[in-house]
Amino acid sequence: MAAKIIDGKAISAAVKKKVTADTAAFVANTGITPHLAAVLVGDDPASQVYVRNKERACEACGLKSTLHRLPAETTQEQLAALVEQLNNDAGVHGILVQLPLPKHLNSTPILDAILPSKDVDGFHPENVGLLLQGRPRFLPCTPHGVMKMLQHENIATAGKHAVVIGRSDIVGKPMAALLVQKGADATVTICHSRTADIAAICRQADILIAAVGIPEFVKSDMIKPGAVVIDVGINRVDDKLVGDVDFAAASEIAAAITPVPGGVGPMTIAMLLQNTLEAARFSQKAG
Ligand code: NAD
Repeated sequence: MAAKIIDGKAISAAVKKKVTADTAAFVANTGITPHLAAVLVGDDPASQVYVRNKERACEACGLKSTLHRLPAETTQEQLAALVEQLNNDAGVHGILVQLPLPKHLNSTPILDAILPSKDVDGFHPENVGLLLQGRPRFLPCTPHGVMKMLQHENIATAGKHAVVIGRSDIVGKPMAALLVQKGADATVTICHSRTADIAAICRQADILIAAVGIPEFVKSDMIKPGAVVIDVGINRVDDKLVGDVDFAAASEIAAAITPVPGGVGPMTIAMLLQNTLEAARFSQKAG
């Protein structure tokens, strides 16, 4: 039987609708519009599209966004100075530095320098630690979006075996951390580039989450019949977007699957908006 297609566009629209209503209430109560400052260094075409989509989504939901564009030759010191300026600007609630940065720049000290209370991507070590301890401040947008999709589809995670392929700080590791938390209660395996016999491990998954960055890496013989398959991958192949899962073959064997595009991608943006509103709320409590 063909898998159910999990419609990330529709689920993200529902999240955005709620963010829009909550933002309007927040503005009415406080007179303050939640404000996201996005920093884009250089002219990577994919990053430009991502940042533009984030700006548009802010606008559509009643949040303010400001884009700080810096040239590709920006120095580490110049970028750090901009982050410092945004940290000190009480009118900015959320700060996002679009990755990847040009090769001559080191992203770690830049992400470390963002005030944890404005870190709407959830990449600051303080926020990562809070997440691991089960008392999150900001959840990283992509894994949070995946959890939201599972909840929306009434896909239980408790007691299930979730296999995450990928161990990046942005997707794989926080994805596994969210699934293993109390409340989610999955049993989690993380696979990565050095994992032996990855297909056999993936075949044990009730929930298989692919965040590899290799087009159609997950073939149908890596999927247990009836599994839920979440495809985080976004790969450009011949000007088309392709996920990390062989979608056509996987849909024949999975119970439910996310498409690319229109799956996890839209959820990431919706969760960013939610975090920006949350950051504006924090600023009120702090102030
Ligand atoms: P990354 O390159 O930082 O990490 C990829 C991970 O895959 C690594 O941990 C690596 O160990 C693992 N890997 C690589 N080759 C492997 C192999 N042969 N077998 C098993 N594991 C292997 O990438 P990332 O930032 O985690 O992103 C992963 C994918 O998700 C990319 O396609 C990216 O574009 C996409 N992405 C999508 C969203 C979204 O909003 N949908 C957000 C972030 C990233």
